[in-house]
Amino acid sequence: MTTPHTYITTTIPYVNARPHIGFALELVQADVLARFRRQRGDDVRFQSGTDDNSLKNVLAAQAAGADVQEFVDRNAEAFLALGPALSLTVDDIIRTSRDGRHRPGVERVWRACAAAGDLYRKRYEGLYCTGCEQFYTRAELRGGCCPEHGSEPQPVAEENWFFRLSRYSGPLREAITAGQLRIEPAGRRNEVLAFIDQGLEDFSVSRPAERAGGWGIPVPGDPGQVIYVWFDALCNYVTALGYGTEGDAYRRWWAGNAGSRRIHLLGKGVLRFHAVYWPAVLLSSGQPLPSDLFVHDYLTAGGRKISKSSGPAGSDPAALAAEYGADAVRWWLLREVPRVGDTDFTVERLIARADDELANGVGNLVNRVIALIGRYRDGRVPGVCVEGPAPPGGENLAAAIRQADGLIGAALAEFDFRRATAAVWAIADEGNRFVNRARPWELARAERDGDAGAGQRLDAVLGILFDACLELGRDLQPFLPDAAERISRQCTPQGGRLAPATPVFRRLSPVKQARQGGQ
Ligand SMILES: [Zn+2]
Repeated sequence: MTTPHTYITTTIPYVNARPHIGFALELVQADVLARFRRQRGDDVRFQSGTDDNSLKNVLAAQAAGADVQEFVDRNAEAFLALGPALSLTVDDIIRTSRDGRHRPGVERVWRACAAAGDLYRKRYEGLYCTGCEQFYTRAELRGGCCPEHGSEPQPVAEENWFFRLSRYSGPLREAITAGQLRIEPAGRRNEVLAFIDQGLEDFSVSRPAERAGGWGIPVPGDPGQVIYVWFDALCNYVTALGYGTEGDAYRRWWAGNAGSRRIHLLGKGVLRFHAVYWPAVLLSSGQPLPSDLFVHDYLTAGGRKISKSSGPAGSDPAALAAEYGADAVRWWLLREVPRVGDTDFTVERLIARADDELANGVGNLVNRVIALIGRYRDGRVPGVCVEGPAPPGGENLAAAIRQADGLIGAALAEFDFRRATAAVWAIADEGNRFVNRARPWELARAERDGDAGAGQRLDAVLGILFDACLELGRDLQPFLPDAAERISRQCTPQGGRLAPATPVFRRLSPVKQARQGGQ
């Protein structure tokens, strides 16, 4: 059997400003999928990057009175810093303006589309939103303004290269309905199909070099034009694999064997680019399509829309991770953001979620179990057969442990991070309930008083509780890798005995009291 190859990408954001919490959501979701697939034995490549070749970057740099390359570099640094801050396992980062793999790959895609007869020159007049880097028709505007930015698009008249998107309505519809190109959630898939059914119009894929301020990749054979930034940016998904430089990674993760997956994560605002334009360009240039598109909705912060240029104070993901820890930020993003619908972020919610479920839930259980084994068994883990029947009252906990693996796998196959983390959380929740119900301190007293049966029951109780901690250490790995590592370490005996318990999570809010289990 060959190892399945799984390629997971985030979008590559413009670097006209520092990263905000909405992009952290996409990164963390992608990281969870990457870690989970690695845990299951896949050969995984997790890729992120920055879109440097945008006119928006040029305008933002000019507004700041800065040199474009310096400005782009500075903001790109802030994006790269999210990797360590959020404990991400990004395998590869592409920066479109500096990466030697990018330009030859984009040129190769362009030439392939040209050879297929899908590129032609045409004079064009339209309404352009620089915020979106996109032309809009009047019908698509809201009150005469861009639906994403609320600003008035500028009339632009110029001669550009066009891509024959109109040719691809049928093949795209077929790929989507046959499940060859899977779009989740289903609402987004239907949105794409409805858009295709309206009839696809050819779209412009170049700009006069002059209007782009000389920034961007020149059109092969027509240096007066630069390649449209979206055409350029979308190509990153294959150029980083070496499509233009004969890289082995391209064969491994893109043009690979059946059963391999090519998963793009993206926000709803760029759905059309990923579900229509990009697949059409791939079909035109003779390349396989992505297998999955997972589309997330938006985060607001304190009730306000987060825009790229103005993240409200207090929602900078690197600063949040520095203050509250990567675990707390990741847990909030995974536990609180539903598969469908926008979500409001506040620091209070992040703290409440972390304290309730991590400090008072998962951390409390691990701490209690290690302490109980220390107190009553001198740190030696009772050797109980975990395959046997659960001790009385422990049936729910046993079920939570047994089912977690399957539930997590099923939930992540549907990109449902809330359901996946709920399956992990159930172990901690049932574990704490079981401690309260089984009252191990009373069993220990009875054992001391000469009741041998109580001693056996105590072994069974501590055995299943320890099993719950082991399972938490394993199951949390994709979601909270740092905490999972701390739990697994505490569950590893040294010289046959567990070390004294240390808190897994620090409590973020000073006011709340931990639930105490009567010990
Ligand atoms: Zn716009």
